[in-house]
Amino acid sequence: MMPDRPILRITNLHKSYGDNEVLRGIDLSVAAGEVVVIIGPSGSGKSSLLSCINFLEPFDAGEIVFDGKPVGYGPAGGAVRVRLADAEANMLRRDLGMVFQQFNLFPHLTVLQNIMEAPIHVRGMAPAQARTLAMQLLEKVGLSAKADAFPRSLSGGQQQRIAIARALAMTPKLMLFDEVTSALDPELKGEVLRVMRNLADDGMTMLVVTHELGFAREVADRVVFMEAGKVIETGPPDDMFNRARNERTQRFLSASANY
Ligand code: ADP
Ligand code: MG
Repeated sequence: MMPDRPILRITNLHKSYGDNEVLRGIDLSVAAGEVVVIIGPSGSGKSSLLSCINFLEPFDAGEIVFDGKPVGYGPAGGAVRVRLADAEANMLRRDLGMVFQQFNLFPHLTVLQNIMEAPIHVRGMAPAQARTLAMQLLEKVGLSAKADAFPRSLSGGQQQRIAIARALAMTPKLMLFDEVTSALDPELKGEVLRVMRNLADDGMTMLVVTHELGFAREVADRVVFMEAGKVIETGPPDDMFNRARNERTQRFLSASANY
């Protein structure tokens, strides 16, 4: 699918940590309903890119527009660059789901309470409605039986599925995933990837950083290969995996054996 109506549009994004420039002019768009998978070696700037999208990190130049609104700095397309108030970033994050390698569930809350927390406290949803929503989401991730369990009693794969349900409870317009299966044993990865695949099938818009090339191949509408802070090549999975044009993409894919 072509990004004709992008929910996310990143233009010439530059970011440095000190004098280490980690994003060197990134251009990337994601259309509504699209699943874009970012692959690339460790240190290429994938996590930094996601951190800029939800403005957990400031950036130095370029523009990010999410759902028609500029991220971090305004006005969009303006010659003058003014840092927006923190309230703007908080508004933005309401519509962005983010799931990390570490699950970051609230340890003192049950599974159900973890999922109900943001809808109630951020969106002002009535508790009864939030509970119904949370139960629906637990069903979606296959964990209805764990509603009253505490996170520490769950496996890593189960905790990550709860973290996904928690993010979905805010009905995000875009879900960001940063290596969400990297900390999991191989047999637990599959259950998390299955949930992500179902989400994609449901039409969720997703930007996924992963080393799971099988997932990229089967689920992505578009694969993006990053190296050293740049997008080296992007295309449909079939082209990227079978006919990569760039020699560095080819080298990365052939070095990443099992997909
Ligand atoms: P990836 O997710 O692709 O592995 P990262 O975005 O985490 O890459 O890192 C890109 C570069 O930025 C690396 O050189 C890393 O050391 C550096 N980096 C990441 N986060 C920070 C930080 N908070 N402070 C300083 N340097 C950082
Ligand atoms: Mg990373």
